[in-house]
Amino acid sequence: MHSRCGAPTLAMTKKAILSWVHCLCPVCLEVFMEPVTLPCTHTFCKVCFLESVDKATLCCPMCRKRVSTWARLHSRNNTLVNETLWRRIQTCFPRQCEHRLSGQGEAEDPHSGNGSRGR
Ligand SMILES: [Zn+2]
Ligand SMILES: [Zn+2]
Repeated sequence: MHSRCGAPTLAMTKKAILSWVHCLCPVCLEVFMEPVTLPCTHTFCKVCFLESVDKATLCCPMCRKRVSTWARLHSRNNTLVNETLWRRIQTCFPRQCEHRLSGQGEAEDPHSGNGSRGR
């Protein structure tokens, strides 16, 4: 019985630390604002989720799983936002959150002026 040889890498990973890539919304490609985690484990910003779901069928924009029942129930109860994740994101990336929350709708980077908007 060699119970001493564990995996040192696993022991060193701290659950509290969120990695940036795991907090990026697949829709707007920025850190989640008020993340909504669907039953299929896909996460989007609340705004992005509401904008990207097919309003008629309420499917996940990523995997097309139907989340209508789930979405209706949670929007009625006001529990769409994954509060735990949201709080952790605000703790880990306070500046990004502040920026996005305060400057909603404003373009962040004036230097990347490749006007490829409005396609
Ligand atoms: Zn988003
Ligand atoms: Zn999904």
